[in-house]
Amino acid sequence: MTSTEQGESSAKARADNAVIATNDDAFLCKLSATRCGYYEDEFLEAIVRELPRTDTTPLRRPPIINRGTFARVEVVRQLVDSFVSDCCALGIRAQIISFGAGYDTLPFRIFDTNTHPTGITYVELDFHTVTKTKAQLISFVKRISTLFDTVDRFANETGLLASTNSNSNHYALHECDLRNIDSVRDAFSVCHVDYAVPTLFLTECVLMYLRPTDSDALLSFVASTFTAPHQFINYEPIRPFDAFGSQMVSNIAKRGSPLLGITDYPDEKTQRGRFRKHGWDHVHAVNMRVAFDAMFTFADKMKLNRHQVLDELEEWNMIMEHYVIVCARSSQKLTLHNMFSSK
Ligand code: SAH
Repeated sequence: MTSTEQGESSAKARADNAVIATNDDAFLCKLSATRCGYYEDEFLEAIVRELPRTDTTPLRRPPIINRGTFARVEVVRQLVDSFVSDCCALGIRAQIISFGAGYDTLPFRIFDTNTHPTGITYVELDFHTVTKTKAQLISFVKRISTLFDTVDRFANETGLLASTNSNSNHYALHECDLRNIDSVRDAFSVCHVDYAVPTLFLTECVLMYLRPTDSDALLSFVASTFTAPHQFINYEPIRPFDAFGSQMVSNIAKRGSPLLGITDYPDEKTQRGRFRKHGWDHVHAVNMRVAFDAMFTFADKMKLNRHQVLDELEEWNMIMEHYVIVCARSSQKLTLHNMFSSK
């Protein structure tokens, strides 16, 4: 390798590590929101006990961040839950594929014995560093490993973990680089992804780190490969051009993880367009202020004030307008509840 090539490869590794570190931030924000009482997630606590102390310095986030994190987790959870329950009600298998899953605990919340769904396949993909650690965590954390009857870890260093339970639910975790479609295809194959099963794709704070050519290639690949009805949920920041947005973009870029996708998909309209372009005919995209107001009644919002009082309403609305939730469906064949259908 020449010294120029060496320089390029270490710059790429540095950039990837900065993006990987955004997972720690997402995890700690969620932990902070649960510790302040916004919602319950015992899996976060179980995981944090196993992480090295330095990674888990409990950083209590300000109320506005905690409430925003709660809104993010809740909107994604409700959309995924409604896909799962619609598939269960129709008696069909459901498949969920989370790209850039990080340490997300949603699959464990879904597989938790209290809720008991059946016939769900949940596949999580991320960079090797993340999936390897997550696979170890799942094996060590009893509260998680006992959700499954078997936890098979394959010692081939790919971070693959595959598990099943008696409800014929299946969970798989595998490394992959979303910028490389061959790597995505390989991960699908190892995780036994079935292209003919109704599938929900999830990207929560992920597409924004990909160049538009890479995220377009990913959307185009899944849209053209999956033959059964499929749905895509995307959550990420928007509005990079106003004063708040440009400050947000520059703050994140300073951490070494620039928002490579935000300029091409800067608002609800362009977000709708990016999915329509690849054949998702029914696309709803709303900013999180709209989503939050649709999801929560006045009484619900008052209850949130019991955890922490939020005085800065103007700032709250402005921040929430800088995030979008997109729900795109490939066809009407599978009747799916859509929480934004009235918008
Ligand atoms: N979705 C999780 C984590 C968000 S942090 C959550 O909301 O909690 C962003 C995640 O995307 C990180 O785990 C990062 O490693 C992953 N990611 C970003 N670019 C990626 C790529 N090219 N290939 C695989 N994973 C990627």
